[in-house]
Amino acid sequence: MEFRFTEKEEQFRQQIRIFVKENMPRGFIGHRFWDEQHQPSWDFGMAIAKKLAENKWLTINWPKEYGGMGASNWEKAIMTEEVGYWGIPGTSMGISGTRWVGPSLMAYGTEEQKKKYVPLIAAADPDGVWCTGYSEPDSGTDLASLQTYAERVGDEYIINGQKVWTSCAHHARWLWMICRTRRDVQKKHQGLSLFIVDMQSKGLKVNPLKTIIGGHVFNELFFDDVRVPAKNLVGIENKGWSHLMQSLAFERSGAVGIVGSLQRIFDELVQYTRESGQFEQADIQQQLTDLAIDLEGARMLGYEAIWKLERGEKLTYEPSRDKANTDVLTEKLSRIGMDIIGAYSQIDVNSKESPWTKIDGALEHMYYHSMGIALAAGTTDTQRNIVGQFGLGLPRSY
Ligand SMILES: Cc1cc2nc3c(=O)[nH]c(=O)nc-3n(C[C@H](O)[C@H](O)[C@H](O)COP(=O)(O)OP(=O)(O)OC[C@H]3O[C@@H](n4cnc5c(N)ncnc54)[C@H](O)[C@@H]3O)c2cc1C
Repeated sequence: MEFRFTEKEEQFRQQIRIFVKENMPRGFIGHRFWDEQHQPSWDFGMAIAKKLAENKWLTINWPKEYGGMGASNWEKAIMTEEVGYWGIPGTSMGISGTRWVGPSLMAYGTEEQKKKYVPLIAAADPDGVWCTGYSEPDSGTDLASLQTYAERVGDEYIINGQKVWTSCAHHARWLWMICRTRRDVQKKHQGLSLFIVDMQSKGLKVNPLKTIIGGHVFNELFFDDVRVPAKNLVGIENKGWSHLMQSLAFERSGAVGIVGSLQRIFDELVQYTRESGQFEQADIQQQLTDLAIDLEGARMLGYEAIWKLERGEKLTYEPSRDKANTDVLTEKLSRIGMDIIGAYSQIDVNSKESPWTKIDGALEHMYYHSMGIALAAGTTDTQRNIVGQFGLGLPRSY
């Protein structure tokens, strides 16, 4: 494995840093899940996305015909790392546009779907904002048990049921959704299909679900005879589960971006201890050093996955390994950081303007969201099960 970036790659990294200087407020720290919660930060994210799209950086590794620049996996990794470190907002186009809808459509969508939807995402068009409807009230980890039903009637499907935890649905133009299309199946993983649903469809109701800290990230969706054209079926009818596995792998990849965002908060924390004098204390030094080792390990694992991709290898358990690893590290960094800043961590996480808030409230914010991060895209336990099964060859866990 080659650990050094080429001169050209390093130059590209510098270009991104110039972009950050020119387009973002000085000292800006990104908070995960922050973009969706407040209208000004959403608007700012969309404006940044537009500028990235003009440089073809929003979807840098997509083919040129779909609005990318055909960049290598390493260039994409540099972009992802820098996005994480500097907290560059708006890069997902909703929760899912750039991250898994675009890649999935390019992998198994029809030509018509690719031409219609993918360029809108790459251009940061408001019509390229997506949310994802997988989870249901009784189907989370056991997603294949989902019940929302799409019945084929003529050249349409009629959808009835409910989805929950739908991040960003209040901003999205399109929904990437999985439904049951057959009930008479031997195994629950059979008879599922993926669809593109217009968020402005008649019969589709979006209810906000407020988080523990008062933010609006999530929604619940109710489908009452929602009509979807048959051409919005993605992939093969009733084979949605195998398509979904590929989309979930896209969703769980990109550990280098998460490591980038953790590294930034770590660097800020180290600076804070220098200024507060805590850096002199042996116990604080031990904890920070421990975190530094974890971060370096997580970065190397992320790089290893990219190195495999660049060699043309197919990833199986690696995205799950890296998600489980960064889930745990996110919680650890926020817990240690909260201990270090002490009582200042008790300030309302939404009071960014308070003079008592330290490090822009990043640690408190990350602490609250670490619980959600460990659930989103499949829980940490689910990722461990995948590593056990596909990485170690252990028997499937139920
Ligand atoms: C921030 C965030 C964003 C989200 N965004 C979306 C979204 O946009 N769209 C969407 O569809 N969903 C979204 N979700 C929902 C997410 O996919 C589910 O929360 C997740 O799949 C877990 O399901 P659950 O919450 O029902 O937990 P459960 O499945 O009920 O799990 C509860 C606990 O039991 C454990 N567990 C369950 N089964 C097993 C097993 N077989 N082995 C070991 N442990 C097990 C889990 O690890 C977990 O600790 C989001 C969630 C969060 C937190």
